Amino acid sequence: MGTDSPRTLPDLEPHTEAFWTGGQSGRLMINRCQACHRYVHPPVPMCPTCHSRDVTPEAVSGKATVASFTVNHVPWVPNLPVPYVFAAVELEEQPGLRLSTEIVNIDPEAVSIGMAVQVVFKQQEEIYLPLFEPQER
Ligand SMILES: [Zn+2]
Repeated sequence: MGTDSPRTLPDLEPHTEAFWTGGQSGRLMINRCQACHRYVHPPVPMCPTCHSRDVTPEAVSGKATVASFTVNHVPWVPNLPVPYVFAAVELEEQPGLRLSTEIVNIDPEAVSIGMAVQVVFKQQEEIYLPLFEPQER
């Protein structure tokens, strides 16, 4: 039943479910306002720009760049091996559209600001956590 899960899993709500389960079909789903066409993240049911409630999840490319990161050497979370890399990544679809995530499949010492990364999903129960790894060249 996932009791060994190192991460606290998010609650699924109508406006967040697509984001957390899109990985099941390999797609990163980001809410997008249908009135002003801006992407909205974290997922909220109302557009913070124009206050429209016509916000619908759309698949994005999953490509991003590292905006900021910290390498954590302290095992704050049981069963999550250190070091690991907490990061904010900026999706290529829109300036300032950032996700909090982890950078994986790379030596933490090799992570750098501006590095090109792509989404990779880690399934935990019904949740598909969007993590990011270096883009393939
Ligand atoms: Zn809007």
